[in-house]
Amino acid sequence: MPATSPVNFSGSGGSAGNTDPNESASAVAGSSQKFQLTYDKLVIAVGAYSQTFNVPGVKEHAYFLKDISDARRIRTRVLECFEQANQPTITDADRRKLLNFCIVGGGPTGVEFAAELHDFLHTDIARHYPALARMAKINLYDVAPNILGGFDTGLQEYATSKFKREGIRLLTQHHVQRVEQGRMFVTEEGEVNFGLLVWSTGLAPNPLIDSITEAKKDGRTKRTLITDGHLNVVLKDTDAVDPDVFAIGDAATVVDKPLPATAQVANQQAKYLTRRLNALVRDRTPSKSPFKFQNAGSLAYIGDWEAVFDRTKAARGPKNKETGRVAWLLWRSAYFTKTLSWRNKILVPMYWCVSALFGGCAARDLTAALS
Ligand SMILES: Cc1cc2nc3c(=O)[nH]c(=O)nc-3n(C[C@H](O)[C@H](O)[C@H](O)COP(=O)(O)OP(=O)(O)OC[C@H]3O[C@@H](n4cnc5c(N)ncnc54)[C@H](O)[C@@H]3O)c2cc1C
Repeated sequence: MPATSPVNFSGSGGSAGNTDPNESASAVAGSSQKFQLTYDKLVIAVGAYSQTFNVPGVKEHAYFLKDISDARRIRTRVLECFEQANQPTITDADRRKLLNFCIVGGGPTGVEFAAELHDFLHTDIARHYPALARMAKINLYDVAPNILGGFDTGLQEYATSKFKREGIRLLTQHHVQRVEQGRMFVTEEGEVNFGLLVWSTGLAPNPLIDSITEAKKDGRTKRTLITDGHLNVVLKDTDAVDPDVFAIGDAATVVDKPLPATAQVANQQAKYLTRRLNALVRDRTPSKSPFKFQNAGSLAYIGDWEAVFDRTKAARGPKNKETGRVAWLLWRSAYFTKTLSWRNKILVPMYWCVSALFGGCAARDLTAALS
């Protein structure tokens, strides 16, 4: 990839090239026009798409959870399920099918979604549809033996027992074979009917990464471009680095140092690269020090104002772990600290308070009124 060569940008962000029910995301992606750009320095930070492992029917019938528009579609579908289940003309058996909510993927995204859904059913939904809320079931599937695979085992156990207490069914070591409209087929269970299926089993390559042929890619998934320690892309044929092309975030892997696909990594890489490029403009010589990830720990919300916080692999400070309300406070503080603008620093805690006092629907109405 020589400098100033034109690069074709195709596709766009959002969920994996989905049809229904993630249609509006792909409508945005499909409408983009191809265009050419020349560059002096290029930073590839296109993220990744949702992984389906080619399970038939997932793209057509499951919901992905990647960005805000996905979250809105999921919320609308949950409400739709309750509205349909509220019709006097349908049987209790059909009600149970509609109110069976399935999540595939027991990583932080699947776990946090299960927790948020549980909270939503026990607050807003319980107020509006008390009888139906009691019929609703949440099922979390994973092929692995435990949820929250990357976390300390004590924290995995804490989250597991909390979910069991809350009535969230954990179906670990379960394999989904195929998905159809309103039902999926699981090796260990047979046919499972659902009103909503959320699919969150990791990341697949962005089409732009797929289309780059000159660069070296991560061996197993080919999801990421391999970079050297300074985040320069490594070329496939020669193993040389391209001095003008960089890759960061979910679309990149630092050679021999695979890092988790998190905002924490992407953010630190972006800051490092900003400093490096600024130094290059100022001093005309690139800085020698390579990128070093400072692990600040991992957090996951597990519902009902509780979280788990894992600092056992932290780069600095105490290597502790926390659970429950203390971890929840740390989780909220982390999100608050990471809100960028002053507007959000005021609005985000305000939404949290309104949501805690009057429910999520009130917070959503407030958002609509203020936007
Ligand atoms: C539900 C969910 C919760 C998460 N929670 C956490 C968390 O609590 N903490 C944490 O650290 N991480 C979290 N993550 C992971 C985190 O969001 C990602 O690791 C991070 O966003 C990666 O940043 P990125 O800039 O590499 O990619 P992205 O944030 O995905 O950004 C890529 C951008 O590139 C755009 N794009 C894509 N293709 C093209 C193209 N061809 N041309 C132009 N633009 C393009 C996309 O529209 C998008 O805006 C979460 C992820 C999900 C899905």
